[in-house]
Amino acid sequence: MRHELFVQTKNRQELVDLTAMINRVLEAWPAKEGLCTLFVAHTTAAITVNEAADPSVVDDLLRHLNRLVPEKGDYRHREGNSDAHIKAALIGNSVQIPVHNGRLDLGTWQGVFLAEFDGPRRRRVIVKLAADPD
Ligand code: ZN
Repeated sequence: MRHELFVQTKNRQELVDLTAMINRVLEAWPAKEGLCTLFVAHTTAAITVNEAADPSVVDDLLRHLNRLVPEKGDYRHREGNSDAHIKAALIGNSVQIPVHNGRLDLGTWQGVFLAEFDGPRRRRVIVKLAADPD
């Protein structure tokens, strides 16, 4: 099954927790066991699994990425958003998460996040669900 999620981000940089949204997609999926691939169809946004319990984890991640890759720097890309491209490359544009009993089989503290690096924008996340063979 293929599904598209649209996420409107609100800031230049932020992490948006998609876990509940993806579990809602899974509710409509008849197979309850398999693999969920999430793919961000953009070059300045990314997707990652990390701690969803303490919001300071996400803050620290963004603050340290900004230290590594500042917004203004010695970049050649004329659009002026090279930092966003580099951050997206570092985090990556897809994740795979097992599905068990019709839900993402995440650890207790884990959530899946869209990482926005050049917002606010409307972002498209492709959800591909592959059922286990019977
Ligand atoms: Zn660009």
